[in-house]
Amino acid sequence: MTAARAEIVVDLAAIRHNVTTLRQITGTPVMVVVKADGYGHGMVPVARAARQAGAEWLGVATLDEALALRAAGADGRVLCWLTVPGEQYAAAIEADLDVTAYSVAELDEIAAASTATGSAARVQLKVDTGLSRGGAAEHDWPDFLARARAGEEAGHWRITGLWSHFACSDEPEHPANDRQEAAFHRALAAADTAGLRPEVRHLANSAAALLRPSSRLDLVRCGIASYGLDPAPGHTPDLGLVPAMTARARLAMVKPLVAGDSVSYGHSWTAEQPTTVGLVPAGYGEGVPRHASNTASVAVDGLQRPIRGLVCMDQFVVDLGGDRPEAGAEVVLFGPGRDGEPTAQDWAEACGTISYEIVTRIGGRMSRSHV
Ligand code: PLP
Repeated sequence: MTAARAEIVVDLAAIRHNVTTLRQITGTPVMVVVKADGYGHGMVPVARAARQAGAEWLGVATLDEALALRAAGADGRVLCWLTVPGEQYAAAIEADLDVTAYSVAELDEIAAASTATGSAARVQLKVDTGLSRGGAAEHDWPDFLARARAGEEAGHWRITGLWSHFACSDEPEHPANDRQEAAFHRALAAADTAGLRPEVRHLANSAAALLRPSSRLDLVRCGIASYGLDPAPGHTPDLGLVPAMTARARLAMVKPLVAGDSVSYGHSWTAEQPTTVGLVPAGYGEGVPRHASNTASVAVDGLQRPIRGLVCMDQFVVDLGGDRPEAGAEVVLFGPGRDGEPTAQDWAEACGTISYEIVTRIGGRMSRSHV
């Protein structure tokens, strides 16, 4: 068998371990967020591993993602939250999904789908408590909640949840967290006054689930921590979460440079002394950030080696210093960090982004397998 040029290996035992840990630490039912192809880890295998570890819910952004989970055999509760006008609510009802509504107009569309299918939908109401992204704004809550209650009485749906989302939970001391939590409790009180009894009230993502116990309520929605990555670097205690993704490649070529040789487009790096470089056959076509140019490192034989010059579409160059491994030697771009390799968090820091973006974007022409 030919060894892969560049590949992603996802450790599903790590996912199971992380989900088990999150359930134990929070003492709360967990929704594992598997949107965007499971943050790049593979939506369906991650969903399966999450369920094996006892995840009570799966969460995705789009209805298409939720339908794909059902088509792959994922049963149990699945919530989606990013629908657009004209969405296929009838398909959502038939697939027994929980859909999120933000507005009276959306509720009207779900009512029409309920009439068309002759079945009741499962609807969760999203309120905006300060993120100013999706969700009903506070001044709209009275109309929104009244319409939700009327539709429930008419048999169009059951209101299965009320929820919101934090803006700054990765900064535990940020005053917006208290404000959002207080606003969420106002929304719960308003829902109660409107006669609604949602089954689950939820607010916390990974960072809040771990760092803000008061926000755990009936359910925590954990994405990044399920994948073993730190949701709030510098704030989260070591919980033994294990990064599940390893991105690796095989050196396509190894060659010496002399002092004064410059590397890659634009000659942004020049060797000051003789060295050896290796060609790594993965570039921004594989989701390797161009911001990794001259900043991030990779591991060769357990030693971290710096990327030199600009990352290209298909390849980049790594400085091997005095070593001269054979072409074909393994290069670990990032992984759990157990054998000296950088982690996705290290890459995020080098590239001025967050680990979410590193793992979600890596892929392209790389093969992906699950162990
Ligand atoms: N809930 C919602 C609505 C989200 O959009 C996300 C992801 O961005 C999450 C929960 C999970 O967040 P995290 O990955 O920080 O746990």
